[in-house]
Amino acid sequence: MDYFVVGAGITGSVIARHLVDKDKNNKVFIIEKRSHIGGNMFDYVDQHGIRVHKYGPHTFHTNSFKVFCYVNLFSEWIHYKSWCMAVINNKFTPCPFNYQTIDDFYSFKDSESLKKNIELMFPKKKKETIIDLLKSENYKIREYALFLFNQDYKLYTSKQWGIDAEKIDISVLKRVPVKFSYDKYYFDDRFQILPKNGYEYFFKNLLEHKNIKIITNENFLNNIKINFDSNDMLLDGRKMKYKLIYTGPLDELLDYRFGSLPYRSLEFKWNYENIHLKQPAPIVVYPQAKDFTRIVEYKQMPNQNVQGTSYSIEYPTQYVPKSNEPYYPILTSESLKLYHNYKNLAKKINNLYFLGRLADFKYYNMDQAIKRALLFCSKYF
Ligand code: FAD
Repeated sequence: MDYFVVGAGITGSVIARHLVDKDKNNKVFIIEKRSHIGGNMFDYVDQHGIRVHKYGPHTFHTNSFKVFCYVNLFSEWIHYKSWCMAVINNKFTPCPFNYQTIDDFYSFKDSESLKKNIELMFPKKKKETIIDLLKSENYKIREYALFLFNQDYKLYTSKQWGIDAEKIDISVLKRVPVKFSYDKYYFDDRFQILPKNGYEYFFKNLLEHKNIKIITNENFLNNIKINFDSNDMLLDGRKMKYKLIYTGPLDELLDYRFGSLPYRSLEFKWNYENIHLKQPAPIVVYPQAKDFTRIVEYKQMPNQNVQGTSYSIEYPTQYVPKSNEPYYPILTSESLKLYHNYKNLAKKINNLYFLGRLADFKYYNMDQAIKRALLFCSKYF
């Protein structure tokens, strides 16, 4: 049986591998419009010898032993716990905010008193959302929360999503907690890892199979048309007889029939400086900067013993279909309704299967994307 997989990100690649491992007669053609495999996880060694992540820093983190075992089939991994700082009023402080943040912005006496108040009001809790802190009955805690909210959460989130502070959805503000300890690490998951030789090598192994053929620099939608009367896909004018697993955006596949789905896009500006280090942490967020959100310094990730330092500056931008990349789906009741119209239409198309962060119109971490793909395989293939 022959299959087409559109998109060589983690979703399409896991499915392609499953199909060829399952049956030696299965053949898979992967079509990828970018010049490389790996989707948003793609990394490479730049001209200065530093491994950088082209689409923003990717730390693999999961609590799932099954996913951990799965990724270990295709690469060696090393432990790596991501950590980050924020610059507030020209001062570097840990992000997620923790007890060090209190020390950074309060006198010794006030800092000790605030920490005691927190321990009293949130006994045995390791962290809490900014929303819960803002609602605290204790005025010292509320004052601290308001400081963090005004100097970071509000500014960062409205810049990241391009919306006024008042319109920010509470769920977005809940994503980065405030920690009640000196723990500086970003994620709490059991497994926090990076591929020893890069995601590039991991993907090469994942897709290394005689029955997988990869075509890059090819937009599949240039060759396919959908006949909405018969619900058939036409490949180069003829009814397609193969199964198609599509991991791109549904609005693009379905001719933007109901309008375009809203996303936030990003622009990465790359720099190299012949200095030892640019900043005190691998990732530093700048809530008070006018137009960029963060700087990522890849030399501070493991195994980068080179001269100089490469870093990217991240600018959130408006998404314009067909001219830049859709990164983060903007989830509102209207956009979900719009997506459901596309989903219902896509379900009617013969031989079409769709999933992944774009086709599902959902933000997935890498482990969630793998879980979704494996579950999908066990259900359909
Ligand atoms: P993608 O990786 O986007 O792959 C889809 C592919 O389909 C793309 O390569 C695209 O070019 C291709 N495609 C689309 N349409 C067509 C077409 N018509 N023809 C041909 N090809 C097509 N997750 C974590 O777990 N940890 C992190 O630290 C982390 N950091 C992130 C940082 C950023 C800035 C972003 C944006 C995401 C981050 N993620 C992180 C999430 C991670 O990137 C996703 O979970 C993962 O990439 C999802 O894989 P996917 O295959 O579903 O989608």
